[in-house]
Amino acid sequence: MTSAGRFAPSPSGDLHVGNLRTAVLAWLFARSTGRRFLMRVEDLDRARAGSEATQLRDLAALGLDWDGGIVRQTDRSGLYENAIQQLAASGLTYECFCTRREIQEAPSAPHAPLGAYPGTCRELSRADRAVKSASRPAAIRLRAAVQSVTVQDGLRGTYRGVVDDFVLRRNDGVTAYNLAVVVDDDAQGIDQVVRGDDLLPSTPRQAYLGSLLGIPTPEYFHVPLVLNAAGARLAKRDGAVTLTDLAALGMPAETVRELILASLGLAAPSLAGALADFHPARLPREPWIWQQPTGQ
Ligand SMILES: [Zn+2]
Repeated sequence: MTSAGRFAPSPSGDLHVGNLRTAVLAWLFARSTGRRFLMRVEDLDRARAGSEATQLRDLAALGLDWDGGIVRQTDRSGLYENAIQQLAASGLTYECFCTRREIQEAPSAPHAPLGAYPGTCRELSRADRAVKSASRPAAIRLRAAVQSVTVQDGLRGTYRGVVDDFVLRRNDGVTAYNLAVVVDDDAQGIDQVVRGDDLLPSTPRQAYLGSLLGIPTPEYFHVPLVLNAAGARLAKRDGAVTLTDLAALGMPAETVRELILASLGLAAPSLAGALADFHPARLPREPWIWQQPTGQ
């Protein structure tokens, strides 16, 4: 399989300029290295009707193209189940019956990193599990043998982060993001992951899980987020931030693309022109502050 990069939006609403900028970056990274560029819809959770179609239309309006069809996580439960079975067969999973509140209130294990699962259900006996499972469905957790893992990021350098007994399948039966993303990237031949740097803290967990499943670690590039005027992560409540909002203010998709490319230090108005000038080492490392355009 040839190597590939990807963009993997959650269809939970329209993409805003921060999401669109990350998509443009993922496309530039993939295309500038001769990779295929794949589109994956991460619809396991919080999917909203009609959102996928609008997101794909907006990405196409910016000029982005992708290879092959759209992959949707809700079509791939068999792949996720196989991975959980593979881990279970090696004794690397266990059932967890904790509520969120129980986890928050549990005393943390000695030497456990802050925020890590305290291990309450790690050594439950068969009898304990039988009692608990009568009143509550179990989540499946990874039995991690480490407390932290170091990953290499092409923009952020060496990053060391917490790895705990994180959830692989929630107790409502939904596959956890960390498992799905690792399994999907491998199944799709993705060896380059470009995404917002809010996901950097999850990356050690994913790299560790991949290693347990015999999956090579992809190249990671965690790109700076887009912030609002107050310095907080851009959100839809920050006004006109989607292509639809901006078009209503008289700003077409081509202009939004130019603004995004300019924010990356790329003066070309087209993606093809930007591709010729693109080099990761020259990317701004600071967040981009989105200036709200005013209506005409
Ligand atoms: Zn538990």
